[in-house]
Amino acid sequence: MTFETLGLTPALLRAVGDMGLYAPTPIQAEAIPAVLKLADVWATAPTGSGKTLAFALPLLQHLLTSPRQTNFRRPVRVLVLVPTRELAVQVGDVLANLAYKLPQSLKVNTVFGGVSVNPQMMALRGGADIVVATPGRLLDLIDQNAVRLADVQHLVLDEADRLLDLGFADELQRVLALLPAQRQTLLFSATFAPEVEALAANMLHHPVRITVEAFEGHKPDITQRAIRVDEKNRTALLRHLITNNGWKQVLVFVATRYACEHVAGKLYKAGIYATPFHGEMSQGARQDVLSEFKAGRWDVVVTTDLASRGIDIAMLPVVVNYDLPRSATDYTHRIGRTGRAGAHGDAVSFVTAAALAHWKLIQKRESLELALEEIPGFEPTETPPPPSPGNGGVKGSRPSKKDKLRAAGAAGSNKPG
Ligand code: ADP
Ligand code: MG
Repeated sequence: MTFETLGLTPALLRAVGDMGLYAPTPIQAEAIPAVLKLADVWATAPTGSGKTLAFALPLLQHLLTSPRQTNFRRPVRVLVLVPTRELAVQVGDVLANLAYKLPQSLKVNTVFGGVSVNPQMMALRGGADIVVATPGRLLDLIDQNAVRLADVQHLVLDEADRLLDLGFADELQRVLALLPAQRQTLLFSATFAPEVEALAANMLHHPVRITVEAFEGHKPDITQRAIRVDEKNRTALLRHLITNNGWKQVLVFVATRYACEHVAGKLYKAGIYATPFHGEMSQGARQDVLSEFKAGRWDVVVTTDLASRGIDIAMLPVVVNYDLPRSATDYTHRIGRTGRAGAHGDAVSFVTAAALAHWKLIQKRESLELALEEIPGFEPTETPPPPSPGNGGVKGSRPSKKDKLRAAGAAGSNKPG
């Protein structure tokens, strides 16, 4: 299989060649022809399997082959929505770098929150061919008349299941209401939990459903391990693993922003170049940490699920679940930060006594049966708490933001009037 057989124009084939890519990945081979045919596409393909180019290449081709009517003002014809600011930057860069190599000038604008709105408004003057956005900032810009969506012909939801989550529901509905009904809609993710399937189906007209099964060969090459450890010994164990294995570039997931600071601080004091990355930091600090981490200037970044979706760090070798993720879906996305684009990765999960039942559920959902390792010097002594009734779900015992929203929603709907 080559890119030539997929129906891409010579200009795009040259751009792909310039990127040093030889052959399309399975999702690219299936999605590119479907997107070129203007079909709605609902695509599930593993983490790190090249979903970005699977929509970027054919959409650029649509823009090249159906030139806009006027150069005076560029109507937004492609809208790409993503759930996090860092992912907006990343996807915007992929599109802009490709567009730069094309014969016609195509303008790509990336908008996201946490930074001043004015430069983004200025950049949008005269319009843009492609807008990559997080939903909240896009709505701000719409409210300020800096952008219009009435001419959008192609909509992409990257990490679609996350955007269809309750957390984004209101914003997404507002954006959808501003789009022409006649359009192409593309949904991409590595996961679509049963809860979002109906929502996804509702957004699409006769979609081409593409599922690149995670069977051997297409599955990311990630060696997964689970280590039983006492809660209080996790930081020491992490230090031990980092030092003993000579790990460089470790992405560590914890449950809270506070834990990011706490764990990163402890590692740093122990002489390991570790730093936190979470949603309470300024956007400038977030961007610095990410680019410094990519450049190998930090050995360890301790983060929340903020970094679990979409972020592409080339050759990131190790992911650690210091706290287990809330759901099997989050597990897939977290460990999927490693083992990307055919590279090998390691994913290590710490399992405390209290988290044992939760870990079993994650494994069941993931069809995993990992042996629980013990590391000499860190043998667990804590015993599992007695099972608490009514907490049989795969989610943790603390209510998530989503659970709280749901509860609030349910409470609201019970109110008379
Ligand atoms: P996904 O969205 O599926 O998680 P990305 O689109 O972020 O994956 O791509 C993951 C990595 O794979 C990126 O660094 C990208 O440059 C690389 N990549 C994409 N397509 C190909 C290809 N055809 N051959 C080799 N590498 C590719
Ligand atoms: Mg992606």
